Amino acid sequence: MSVRRSRILARIADLAWPRRCPVAACGRLSDRPDRHLCSRCFASLPFLEAGGECEICGMPVPAPTTHSFICEACSSSPPAFERARSALSYADAVQELVQSFKYRQAIELTEDFGDLLEATLRAKFDASAIDAVMPVPLHPHRLRERGFNQSGLLAETLARRIGRRLDERSLVRRRDTEHQARIGAEERKRNLRAAFAVERPQYVRGRTILLVDDVMTSGATLSFCSAELLGAGASRIWCITLARAIRD
Ligand SMILES: [Zn+2]
Ligand SMILES: [Zn+2]
Repeated sequence: MSVRRSRILARIADLAWPRRCPVAACGRLSDRPDRHLCSRCFASLPFLEAGGECEICGMPVPAPTTHSFICEACSSSPPAFERARSALSYADAVQELVQSFKYRQAIELTEDFGDLLEATLRAKFDASAIDAVMPVPLHPHRLRERGFNQSGLLAETLARRIGRRLDERSLVRRRDTEHQARIGAEERKRNLRAAFAVERPQYVRGRTILLVDDVMTSGATLSFCSAELLGAGASRIWCITLARAIRD
């Protein structure tokens, strides 16, 4: 299709389905081509700027430093992944956007989120060293309930943009650990540890794998997935998330 023709079609699509900015307090028509977040809301997202971060989990350092730094949590119990980085702090409008992406199926946000993930990936990792891009898997029950895996959509977009292989089948979730608020922290951890498994070790062995998730909270999920992949012979695990909770 010619550029002119595709522009005309995009214009018609905009008239038929106006791209409204999904930030509740905004709701303006988006001024970013083929995206939903308007430029003002995009620019005011809580970006995790460079200025010093934990070498392992990417937690921002309290005061800017040029020294290498490893945070308290990573020193006391080192995660299984080599490095994790996130685009945004899980705060303000980001919580609202991620919730609507996940539970209200606002999948039109995929490309907006793809922009953020791609920029973070290119700034913090060597994309050419990645052999496979894998989402944190969803349990089949949740997949049926929700209709899609939000991390799968993000992984797919990212893999396409950096031209690396998407692998949604080698890492699987055997236990449904999502609604376990009523059990204790220790039991929750035990469940999570046993939740993941590798089904196709031949696609994992010797590979550098990029794990993708929407939000990193404690990092436990990503660490258990990484441990499982390393156990199946992966050579290293990098993790990327759209947002992360920032501990005080
Ligand atoms: Zn806006
Ligand atoms: Zn850390």
